[in-house]
Order: sequence, then structure tokens, then C-alpha cells
Amino acid sequence: MVPEGWLIESGDVVAFGPMAGEVLGIAVERERVRTAVFDPHGRRLVETCTDVVSKGATLKPMSPAALQKALSRDIPLCLESAQRAHVRAVGISWPTALSPTTGEPLLAHLLWRRKSIASFLDDCKDVLQGLPVVSVNDANAELLAECRWGVARTARTALGVKICGGIGGALAIQGEIHVGASGYAGEFGHLAVDIADVAAAPLPEGLQPLASLPACSCGAMDHLERFASARAIVDRLEPLTSSVGYNNRASELRTRVEEEAVKVALAQAGQLLGRALVAPVLAVDPDLVVLSAIPHHDVWLGATSAELDHFRGRTRVVLGTAPEDGGVWMAALGAAAAAIDEHVLPRLEERVQRRSA
Ligand SMILES: [Zn+2]
Repeated sequence: MVPEGWLIESGDVVAFGPMAGEVLGIAVERERVRTAVFDPHGRRLVETCTDVVSKGATLKPMSPAALQKALSRDIPLCLESAQRAHVRAVGISWPTALSPTTGEPLLAHLLWRRKSIASFLDDCKDVLQGLPVVSVNDANAELLAECRWGVARTARTALGVKICGGIGGALAIQGEIHVGASGYAGEFGHLAVDIADVAAAPLPEGLQPLASLPACSCGAMDHLERFASARAIVDRLEPLTSSVGYNNRASELRTRVEEEAVKVALAQAGQLLGRALVAPVLAVDPDLVVLSAIPHHDVWLGATSAELDHFRGRTRVVLGTAPEDGGVWMAALGAAAAAIDEHVLPRLEERVQRRSA
């Protein structure tokens, strides 16, 4: 295997060689798309990131046409910079729960209700150059990446919570993602949460009341996502934030947590998150709860942990891999991990079996 390039030996360490293959990991976010080539060790070899949101259109997620246009540029760019011949498969993470049987979105945002992922991928088949594609939910992808290479490496069971434009979540058991019978496992954003005491607290200037927020993406009025997503935080602080897109605006808040309105908005979101997580934490009793939140800041930990305190036993609440350590790439990395599992490792195993036969 070593002379053929499937493995590389360096001292006592055996690593994947170029013949093992690389994969393209793509993270479709609500407002941008990240594309990178990863090796089977999870190292990012080439990367590109494109903002797909248009100015003023902060409520609209990207359209299939806009995404296809971005991918038509970004995929060839990455494949040319990497060695195309080494790339074996594509993993794509989507900002929606996916059906484990059809692979189609379960709670699609508006523009995608009339477009199936299968037909979208069919439209993109030239740009995908015949590579096999594995689709995963973005929160599942992030937690998978944290289990393989990030903060959940030693956890036997972990809950992941992804706070971005909406709220996603995931459950990992022994390092593997449990998607559930229907694909809804970990959809914590749609847990009902009681806001009465939090809503009754006096508000600092510049912070809108929780009751002023629009409904959850599913239409419900009492769901966690309505009150604690990055979108909710930014909406409550309008017009305090200036950049385009909810995720960009929320990231901006990281440097402004000393402002009273920002501090209270984040603390209240963290508190409601902790309250909603009591039931899943009691049901699973995980080693770890991993918060991947925009903005990436400790204020989440304090508020969420305090609310969970009576129920969490030995469960630790931690932030996901920091943005400066590649945290923003975790969804793309997790999608790549899914593609490695499905299309790289089996080739290697097959090769070993053929040699020993
Ligand atoms: Zn909902």
C-alpha cells in the first residue's frame, strides 16, 4: 500500500497517501457558500467562500439559481487548484433537515419548497464532473466534524446546537450522527419555550421586546428559534447593526458584547436556549453539549449552563471550534467527512481485501 501511494509511512506514523483520495466539502449557508478540498485527515487544502445574499434582501435565503451560479465558479476553482484526479466525491451540507429516505428537505425555506435537491444536483451535474454527492444537514455535519477533529473527539455522546439564521441541532453517539427515523433528530429550534419571566424583565435602550419578533420559520409563535436564533438577536437590536446578512451582522456583535443591549440580547437568548435544552439533556444525558453560535462568545456558555445547572449532572457545555481555528469551516468539513466515509474509506478497505485475497 505504501509504494502504491495509498498510505505514507513516516517513522511510526502511517497516514493516508495521495491514492487514498480527497473530497470536496461544500457548506450551503443561508447567505453564503463555502467550498474546499479536504484530505482524509480533515486538512483543508484549497478553499473559497462566496456571499450569495444581495443587499437589502436579508430575509430571503439564496435562490437555487444564485447558488448554482456560485458553485459553477467555486467548484472548478477548487478542483483546478487541487489535483482533480485525486478528488473522489463531494459532501454538501444544507441548512435544513433532510429526509433519510429521499434526501430531500423536510423544513425547506420558501424558495426551495418547489425545488428538490436531486433536481438541483442534476442541474449542476456538469460542474460536479460526475463526482458522487453525499448530502447532510449542516448541524449534523458540524457535530460530525467536532467528533472527528474538534472539541467532541473524546465524547461518547454529544448534543450539538447550531445557532445561525435559524437554530439547528444534532445528536452523536460514539462519534456517529443519529439522524432518527424521519431526519428530525436534534431539531431543537422547534422546541416550545416559556418566555414569560424573561419577557417581563425591563429592557435596556435599543433592545426590542421578544414579543416583537416574527414567527419561527415553521410558523409557530412559541418556538426557541423565534427567540434565540442569530436572526432573532439581530432583529431585536435593529438598527444597531450595519452589515448585510444576518450571519454577518451577528458576527459583528462579538466585539460589542460590552454594550448593554447586546449583552442582554445574548444573555436572554442563552437563557432560553438552556431552558429548551433541559428536556433533550435529560433524555440523552450526554457527555457534552457543543454550542456553535454566532457570535462565537462565552456569554452563551454562562447563560445556557446556568439555566441547565440543576439538570446537567456531568454534562459539560462548551463552544464549538473557534472561527480563528477553522470553526467557520466545520459544516464543510463534516460534509467532507461523510463523503470520506462513503467514498474514500471503502476503496481503501476494498484494496486491502483484494491484496489479502
Ligand atoms: Zn418552529
